[in-house]
Amino acid sequence: MNTDKASRQARLWLPLVDSAYTLAVRERVRELVEPHAEAIDRDDIYPKSIVKQLAALGYTSVTLPVQYGGQGLSFEHALAAFEEIAVASAAVAVSMISIFQAQTMIRLFGNERLKETFLPQFPQGLLAAYALTEASHGSDIRSLDTKAERAGDEWVLAGEKHFITSSDGAELFVILAQTEVGVSVFAVPRAAAGLTIYEGRNSATFGLRNGPHMNLRLQDVRIPAHHLIGTEGKGVRQAVTVLDHSRTIAAAISLGIARAAFDAAYAHVAERVAFDQKVLQFQGIQWYLAEALSDIDACRLQVFHAGRALDQHLDIDRYSSEAKLRAAEVATRTASMAVQVGGAIGTMVNAPFGRFLRDAKTYEIAGGSSEILKNTIGKYLIRLTQAPQ
Ligand SMILES: Cc1cc2nc3c(=O)[nH]c(=O)nc-3n(C[C@H](O)[C@H](O)[C@H](O)COP(=O)(O)OP(=O)(O)OC[C@H]3O[C@@H](n4cnc5c(N)ncnc54)[C@H](O)[C@@H]3O)c2cc1C
Repeated sequence: MNTDKASRQARLWLPLVDSAYTLAVRERVRELVEPHAEAIDRDDIYPKSIVKQLAALGYTSVTLPVQYGGQGLSFEHALAAFEEIAVASAAVAVSMISIFQAQTMIRLFGNERLKETFLPQFPQGLLAAYALTEASHGSDIRSLDTKAERAGDEWVLAGEKHFITSSDGAELFVILAQTEVGVSVFAVPRAAAGLTIYEGRNSATFGLRNGPHMNLRLQDVRIPAHHLIGTEGKGVRQAVTVLDHSRTIAAAISLGIARAAFDAAYAHVAERVAFDQKVLQFQGIQWYLAEALSDIDACRLQVFHAGRALDQHLDIDRYSSEAKLRAAEVATRTASMAVQVGGAIGTMVNAPFGRFLRDAKTYEIAGGSSEILKNTIGKYLIRLTQAPQ
């Protein structure tokens, strides 16, 4: 990256938490991730070796306690890491969010044996995927077609999960399945007999392209009884809690996309000449950038505020939903502006503007659609009226 651009970015995007940590992530991401971002998107590949390298640097286990080999840092640190990674490649960040979700489910709800088995593997680069969705169940996972039955000291799983990010490279799956008393959550190693992965008809998305979203087929997959994560029948509640964590991370990824789009737009208009002057000199163009910068600055404060709420266990459903809702919208708005000020170059397939717009829009749906987030905030408001005064 040229030094003008790097110093402009340093001025524009001051770290909001632990400057030394954030700037170190920024530097490493520039080396390890940025050069590959375009190819990952174009060829829709799972960035296995990059994720392993980032894991070795501790970025897949930022909030994991030190006793399991994690960094033991705050949630705000995790947000800073994901924001910086997403500036370079939202696809790489999304590969890491699947790992974070699986890890968080085990960390928050797993029994000691499960934690001892799997958590120390994450800092060593364990790749994991999180499987909720089925052909007939996306937003609504209150009952599922994938079944799990208890048979002696084992669980037996049968069914199909669809559209699972990162499943091509995953070594561990955290899977939601229906048991007798409700939805429950299970840790299923990739090597389990009866588990196969195949590419379904709807495997490729136009944004957040980190390899095809694969389908999992579970044919009488037997796992030990202690691989039940948390409480049987409480799977939806647990999944919602994990989503409250990962939605804030998703918001940080959207912020990264917005920043990348802004940087690309700025770099373009600062150089491009029209009517004998730099495009940046037109007031109409400055206004686009001014609005986008105000949006991103406000949104960054909101997302890091949501991170603090998570660290302090305060109304996390509200703050995480608000953060993801806003950040996804800001990213799409900013990426759309970037295409506009890019002129024809903004629309070219070999320019990055299209990637930012596709990634941003896709994140209005993945990881909790904007409609579901508004429902969650609505439920919070109703709950407030019912709370004792
Ligand atoms: C890039 C990407 C990656 C994904 N990765 C994974 C993954 O790793 N693991 C996984 O399990 N799933 C994954 N998914 C699936 C994702 O979780 C679902 O797509 C999402 O939950 C929406 O479900 P759906 O597509 O079935 O939409 P539907 O549930 O069919 O919803 C259709 C529309 O109706 C709206 N809607 C639904 N219910 C309501 C309601 N109650 N009120 C108002 N509006 C409503 C939705 O917001 C949406 O706009 C991924 C999706 C994408 C796009």
